[in-house]
Amino acid sequence: MIETEEQLGGRRLEPGEGFSFACRPGLACFNTCCADKRLPLFPYDLLRLRRGLGQSSAEVLAGFVELEEDPVSGWPVLRLRLTGEGRCPLVGETGCRVYGDRPAACRTYPLARAAAPGEKGQPAREVFLLQEAPGCLGWREPRQLSLEVWVEEQGLKPYQAANDRLLGLVMHPRRRGRLYLTSEQTHAVILALYNLDVFRQLAATPDFARRFGFGAGSVAEALASDENLLALGQDWLTGQLFGPPASAPGRTKKKAKGRGR
Ligand code: SF4
Ligand code: SF4
Repeated sequence: MIETEEQLGGRRLEPGEGFSFACRPGLACFNTCCADKRLPLFPYDLLRLRRGLGQSSAEVLAGFVELEEDPVSGWPVLRLRLTGEGRCPLVGETGCRVYGDRPAACRTYPLARAAAPGEKGQPAREVFLLQEAPGCLGWREPRQLSLEVWVEEQGLKPYQAANDRLLGLVMHPRRRGRLYLTSEQTHAVILALYNLDVFRQLAATPDFARRFGFGAGSVAEALASDENLLALGQDWLTGQLFGPPASAPGRTKKKAKGRGR
């Protein structure tokens, strides 16, 4: 679900190293790169696409997304579904139709980011890789950039924060090796992480907080904000897949059994 450095490929950007890149409409390659790529969509990508397109989460899923299973981890992976011509369904004559809400992978290029959980509550560890795509003329542009400027300019911080939070689920301590999810569990993953409008209906049921051990206040906060709702969905899903946290009040304590990968 979250790709590793090995899966992403490319040369590692060393600490403090800059790079030269610019993407602009006047380049001969403009718009050509929004094709032939099976872009991964993370939960926060879906949240933003839904917002940018002004559609329900179910409409975005039905209209633009395909589902597969990662053969290594067993996690459901969502990707942008290409058109019959192999183009991204969201590219128009003048560029990306959802530019302000485009997915993290589109924002991050010409870099890619791999992340792993930090030790003992520390922030996630991250690595950026240079991804020189064939035919991309942006690399010939003279504009010098630092990683920090690129992350800021591309509005990547909320995407990275949401994806780092997701690491707590996909690399859960109770996970042992490859997952073999039942169809009900796969449905729960899609519901809680991607189909937020439907998950909101579940979270709004009167006994949701009591049934699943959440505070009424945190559920109310989630119902008022898509970002908080996604966080609640992740917490709910974590309980569905791996059981309650060891410190959950009123529940049987389970000891974490070591990190599976
Ligand atoms: S190929 Fe590179 S420079 Fe050209 S439009 Fe795509 S990202 Fe921009
Ligand atoms: S979402 Fe936008 S930027 Fe990303 S591949 Fe599609 S058209 Fe290009």
